[in-house]
Amino acid sequence: MKHRFRIDKSHTKITAKSTIQKTIEFIRSSDIEPPYLLMDKAKVRQKVHAIGRHIRHAEVFYAVKANPDIEVLKLINSLGIGFEIASEGELNILSSIGVSSTRIITSNPIKSFRFLRLAAEAGIKYFSFDSEAEILKLREFIPGAHVYIRLSVPNEGSEWPLSKKFAVEVDVAEELLVLAKKKGLNPVGITFHVGSQCTNIYNWNSALNKAKDLWDRVEKAGIKLSLLNIGGGYPIRYTKDVVGISAIDKNIHRLIYEKFPKKIRVLIEPGRAVVGDAGIFVTRVIGKAARGDEQWLILDVGVFNGLMESVGGIKYSYIVEGSREAKKWTLAGPSCDSFDVIEKDVMLPEPAVGSYVLILSSGAYTISYASEFNGFSIPKTILI
Ligand SMILES: *Cc1c(COP(=O)(O)O)cnc(C)c1O
Repeated sequence: MKHRFRIDKSHTKITAKSTIQKTIEFIRSSDIEPPYLLMDKAKVRQKVHAIGRHIRHAEVFYAVKANPDIEVLKLINSLGIGFEIASEGELNILSSIGVSSTRIITSNPIKSFRFLRLAAEAGIKYFSFDSEAEILKLREFIPGAHVYIRLSVPNEGSEWPLSKKFAVEVDVAEELLVLAKKKGLNPVGITFHVGSQCTNIYNWNSALNKAKDLWDRVEKAGIKLSLLNIGGGYPIRYTKDVVGISAIDKNIHRLIYEKFPKKIRVLIEPGRAVVGDAGIFVTRVIGKAARGDEQWLILDVGVFNGLMESVGGIKYSYIVEGSREAKKWTLAGPSCDSFDVIEKDVMLPEPAVGSYVLILSSGAYTISYASEFNGFSIPKTILI
């Protein structure tokens, strides 16, 4: 089938031309039925090389939850970086592709018993924490573990905040690091997360100021720290431009260089930025309908089988096959649940039922969130 997509500058500003080109070539030469997620290997490689390049002594640990597809993990593994995990499932998949435990850390501050048991067996050494209860659990399962405290930092301007559920303020953080030492753990450092899809570069400034304050206080309390884990948060382009990785990193580097001892280890845990803009969902219009004065397009991918983040406010860019003229649409997924609405008021050319819709920047937090609710399968991932 010949597909004629309406591609313009607004699309190539979001996703690399080469990624769009490869996607279209794949669609034209393949008879695989949508929906599926294409992941551009070259883009993933490029992002892995870019992140942390301007930060001295930076070590990158890919946050597996962003996209745990086994082929994606093999690709990232071949690039030599580490992995950040939170669960036994993530540990199992990394073990199955031969990732050594020395390249795995876990920054989920509250871990399941089973995960701690398996992590101990596997020999993972680095863990985050932010409560007394977790210190006691870690002491039981992994005596002597290297631990870092999750510090609460501003998440303003992050489209997917990660505050509240996690992290403690400076006073409590200090007490907990001291307690961790008393209980036989090895307190090595501090971590924070500025919020996912963080488009506000100043979040890193406030976070690093706060971390510095804690660092000094802990040192006065007789604990010498050596590790600063700055989490993830690097943004990608969905519908508009965002601050670039190198600008963020140069800023972070300067701040760390000014404030912290010269020999510290700096860990980074990017998720979204590694895989997000390498992914394009290939979906199809399965229905059109008028509801009141709204025009609806029903796609074969929706909130439940891939686009969960749309509910939290992430908006995507779409390439469609369709008429020249743009109209306003409500986009929805295929399930029989009225929660399955992807986005309202989207301006798009009018596609025919059966035409393809490409959803840009959909490589992160899509398949990893997806369920088979209502029997709609989770789109398969294909690396191109
Ligand atoms: C999810 C997560 C990350 C990755 O965040 P991104 O915003 O996707 O880069 C990093 N660290 C921790 C602890 C996380 O929970």
